[in-house]
Amino acid sequence: MTDTSKLIVGRTGSWEMVLGLEIHAQVASKAKLFSGAAVGFGAGPNEQVSLVDAAMPGMLPVINRFCVEQAVKTGLGLKAQINLRSSFDRKNYFYPDLPQGYQISQFKDPVVGEGEVIVEHDDGSTFTVRIERLHLEQDAGKSLHDQDPNATYVDLNRAGTALMEIVSKPDMRSSAEAAAYVKKVRTILVYLGTCDGDMEKGNLRADVNVSVCRPGAYEKFRETGDFSHLGTRCEIKNVNSYRYIQQAIEYEARRQIEIIEDGGKVVQETRLFDPSKIETRSMRSKEEAHDYRYFPDPDLLPLVLDPAWVKRIEDSLPELPDAKKARLQSQYGLSAYDAGVLITEQARADFFEEAAKGRDAKLTSNWVTNELAARLTGSGQDIEDSPLKPADIAELVALIEEGVISSKIAKDVFDRMWAGEGGARAIVEKQGLQQVSDTGALEKIIEDLIAANPGQAAAVVEKPQAVGWFVGQVMKATGGKANPGTVNQLLKAKLGLE
Ligand code: ADP
Ligand code: MG
Repeated sequence: MTDTSKLIVGRTGSWEMVLGLEIHAQVASKAKLFSGAAVGFGAGPNEQVSLVDAAMPGMLPVINRFCVEQAVKTGLGLKAQINLRSSFDRKNYFYPDLPQGYQISQFKDPVVGEGEVIVEHDDGSTFTVRIERLHLEQDAGKSLHDQDPNATYVDLNRAGTALMEIVSKPDMRSSAEAAAYVKKVRTILVYLGTCDGDMEKGNLRADVNVSVCRPGAYEKFRETGDFSHLGTRCEIKNVNSYRYIQQAIEYEARRQIEIIEDGGKVVQETRLFDPSKIETRSMRSKEEAHDYRYFPDPDLLPLVLDPAWVKRIEDSLPELPDAKKARLQSQYGLSAYDAGVLITEQARADFFEEAAKGRDAKLTSNWVTNELAARLTGSGQDIEDSPLKPADIAELVALIEEGVISSKIAKDVFDRMWAGEGGARAIVEKQGLQQVSDTGALEKIIEDLIAANPGQAAAVVEKPQAVGWFVGQVMKATGGKANPGTVNQLLKAKLGLE
């Protein structure tokens, strides 16, 4: 069945998009993949370059065991096949920021094979993206064109840094799905600690492959595995934010549809996304594509992993997002949606679990994911640095649970807590924000109101729904502190309803 929400309407009928992503994730390692040079952000140009990275004659690469371990960990986190034997190849191309003249990568035999990622839609429902492979490779250096009007400078600090390239199958069908997939992969990597996931620094970025086809064609591809059912794809290089990923895809799919509807053919090529114009433009076409002349790197032996070592890594994995989500649902009775929001960051889930001890879990989750999350975003802080601690939220939730304050007053209390006025209980006491459940006081207010508004009282007897007006007046008279349940009960009794 065709999911109509995925259809794009063109002049000649409906279209669908097909998306496959290659995510480049920088390994969270202090040293490079084949040299001992440091990896770090913010060093001066060429301060982190060893003779190996600079490709001095006679230098030999030595594989960094830690980086291999991170790749294996990541593979396990992606529920993927770990290949006990893999190898490194040379991918040859000439570029000023690549002093070796080739990049060491894994072409034929990657360290990680097929896996899968379960991804959350915005509404909490899920879909699966199949992983094709994960391989290790070196990053290149950086050409600096803006230092001198007449010259290009080269900074090799990044040259040789370890990257994990995670290649998906073409399983995403909308720009929102592509962004959600990158988010989920990022979350898994950050949980594993194998990549810091910092997209602004380019430590996680994606090449986005886009094609369009008519409804039904994708299903045929899935049945047969035959790519000829799909349209010709274009690859948009190095997109490093969720918003850019979505914008690039939307633009690119439209561009391809227009070409085909005008009677033309999409040319397979590499394109760049220009965020200032929100469009993609050609970088190089397939005709001028590099002939990489891959061949096994003779300087490196095949990478052979000890199954016991892999098993030890597997046994040491932390609780991963999907497992945590399932546990939060079963242990605390949270919805898939709430649990899904909490697990997007490990620290947020930890914060919740700490605050929810002995408290109403749903209520606690709401305060953590709504009010607190919004405030932290507003002040640009991570939950790790939250000025309000789990115990503070727990205290607030306790007051609501005990009926001392209403949820509405709780928002006011929260604002004061955020402003540093102290703990929830102290604020409630100091400001006299306790809910008025004292029947005597409320009875008096209600009697006065009925006496002063005989017309309204008569109307309510005719039409009981109109009681809301009186509830509103009581709230007003008590500054929002009346217990709504008590007010309703008393009103019904005094007005002779039911
Ligand atoms: P290359 O090495 O040339 O980039 P791959 O076969 O490794 O080619 O594919 C790269 C990415 O392109 C993968 O993520 C794959 O899922 C995706 N892809 C392949 N064909 C299509 C297509 N027709 N539409 C969208 N994505 C595609
Ligand atoms: Mg590619």
